[in-house]
Amino acid sequence: MIKTDIIIIGAGPVGLFAVFEAGLLKLKCHLIDSLPQPGGQCSEIYPKKPIYDIPGFASVLAGELVDNLMLQAAPFKPGFTLGEAATDIEKRADGSFVVTTSKGTQHNAPIVMIAGGLGVFEPRKPPIASIVNFEDKGVEYIIKDPEFYRGKTCVIAGGGDSALDWSIFLIEKRIAKKVILVHRSSSFRGHLDSVQKVIDLADSGKIKLITEAEVTDLRGENALEEVIVTHAKQGEIVEKADHFIPLFGLKPSLGPIGNWGLEIEKNAIKVNTLDYSTNIPGIYAIGDVNSYEGKLKLILCGFHEGTIALQSAFARIHPDKKNVLKYTTVNGINGF
Ligand SMILES: Cc1cc2nc3c(=O)[nH]c(=O)nc-3n(C[C@H](O)[C@H](O)[C@H](O)COP(=O)(O)OP(=O)(O)OC[C@H]3O[C@@H](n4cnc5c(N)ncnc54)[C@H](O)[C@@H]3O)c2cc1C
Repeated sequence: MIKTDIIIIGAGPVGLFAVFEAGLLKLKCHLIDSLPQPGGQCSEIYPKKPIYDIPGFASVLAGELVDNLMLQAAPFKPGFTLGEAATDIEKRADGSFVVTTSKGTQHNAPIVMIAGGLGVFEPRKPPIASIVNFEDKGVEYIIKDPEFYRGKTCVIAGGGDSALDWSIFLIEKRIAKKVILVHRSSSFRGHLDSVQKVIDLADSGKIKLITEAEVTDLRGENALEEVIVTHAKQGEIVEKADHFIPLFGLKPSLGPIGNWGLEIEKNAIKVNTLDYSTNIPGIYAIGDVNSYEGKLKLILCGFHEGTIALQSAFARIHPDKKNVLKYTTVNGINGF
């Protein structure tokens, strides 16, 4: 049993910053995340995109922001349970909570802070019967490390920013040997700049673009070898490929947290804006996962919510102690 002061469910930017604010109050945190790495949406969806609305940074790559948040949290030595989803919660007689993960790891603390963002990430999968046979054997739904595709032939499917941006990136950076972009329509949903760039790359023969077509079957002995594309007019096209990467977005799903007895509205946890507490005393919800009138799903709002929620958590843990707000400029950072 892992024991701590605060169990944070979700190691996205908001959960990570909460570790720092908790540390200033001398409270220890342990984070649980179903993803194998910290950073939430920033690491999983857009690590290489610049963010322009983090106070004090005119521009910062999402991945860099996560690295900085990890550095900022480091003096307070947070614990991590990664690659495991928090599935169950139980309240003990002493008022503390036990949170259990999909792999059976148990955590105990008087406070639970849910920073679960959009919930457990579930990629939208295309309806191809054979796809499950090739998952992790040539089929990936998210590009985590572009280097994985060095020298490979990749079929990317989709018409949004992810499909366009990754097709451009893998070819322009000379990572993939060949990129074939398949889209069911001849118009794209992505940024106009990216659409034009893909068209230019297709015209110069650097990307093979197949529109008005869908991937309908996958073939291979032990791993993916061929992608079958069905074109509206030309019929079946067989493309030799090492990877098929359908980038159709991620489905927001609150996952198991939705069954914990918390008040839910619009697929998010309803909170009291006084301290971002939920209807269950001792459980708070901060960041994208919460809902209240005027809510803005922005990183900076999540930072604020976590800071306020932790003051309230401190008062619950130490009802006899008065917390006096101290500036970091005056007190510095006294790590654990
Ligand atoms: C393409 C894109 C661009 C964006 N640009 C900006 C921008 O410019 N500025 C801005 O402010 N915001 C931007 N956002 C929004 C911003 O990313 C989110 O507001 C932010 O990530 C919310 O942080 P969070 O920590 O609340 O949640 P998340 O980043 O969603 O992290 C939540 C974490 O909780 C985990 N989790 C959920 N449920 C469980 C469970 N049961 N067990 C274990 N782990 C769980 C998830 O795996 C995830 O890692 C953008 C979003 C996208 C998709």
